[in-house]
Amino acid sequence: MLKKFLLYLSIFLAFCSVILPFFSCEKPTNHKNSVIVLDTNLSKNLPEWFSHPDNIANFVVLTFDDGPYRKVNNNDKIDHTGIILDILKKENIKATFFILGIQLDTNVVKKGETYNKYCLWIERMFKERHIVGIHDRNHIPYYKQSKNELEKSFEYTKEVVRNISGQEFSKYVRSPGGFISKQVADYLSQQGYRHTFWHINSEPLPHLNPKQILDNIIEEIKKGKRGIILMHDRTASEYLEALIGFLKANKIEIVSLEEWEKRYGLPDTPYVAHQGK
Ligand SMILES: [Zn+2]
Repeated sequence: MLKKFLLYLSIFLAFCSVILPFFSCEKPTNHKNSVIVLDTNLSKNLPEWFSHPDNIANFVVLTFDDGPYRKVNNNDKIDHTGIILDILKKENIKATFFILGIQLDTNVVKKGETYNKYCLWIERMFKERHIVGIHDRNHIPYYKQSKNELEKSFEYTKEVVRNISGQEFSKYVRSPGGFISKQVADYLSQQGYRHTFWHINSEPLPHLNPKQILDNIIEEIKKGKRGIILMHDRTASEYLEALIGFLKANKIEIVSLEEWEKRYGLPDTPYVAHQGK
């Protein structure tokens, strides 16, 4: 009796293993659509500074400068920062925003719809657990400012963000243009800030359109570059979705700035001569 049962059981299992796969709902993955897939082996040809003794870095960090930003031009209104926040939320990605104090200055932006949106976006950045860092108040490179001017710029920017959100900035800052002087580097480290240079500059030339910017980033990634990508709110809103699609298709993970720093540290910032009095 037992023998018969075992025989029927083995026939049944054999039947299942042959027939069932034909009824499976799983379809082979198809990345062809509009997404570009790298044909290079990602573990090859990575520059030395992306390599790690046990692990090859295959991560990028998304950073956005000069926000919050909204285009208002007669009938043309584009909520650039809001669009970026929506995409990041949908994709469950944590990014870093380097904020300009002047964008939140009510003498410049004026009260009203745009100012209200800027406040909402600042609140969302904190609430949705992005990293929020200081860029500058007026977009002046740090090496062109005196210590006093830099302190005032930071204090102003902190104060407006505190008033809007009740939150404090992270330790990460980024000088407009990226460069700092030795004096600025010493001041920042004394104050506990971490200057955040980048590995991939999405806009090496001015006035590029979103398509050209996306192509630049993809080109750099194809060369094997990974790490911190510098982008801007005013253009990234138009290509961010395509960029995320490209990264996903190529199994390049997006990590937070904090996570990158923990694993690999921050890139060295090039020093220039100090010009501030
Ligand atoms: Zn900037």
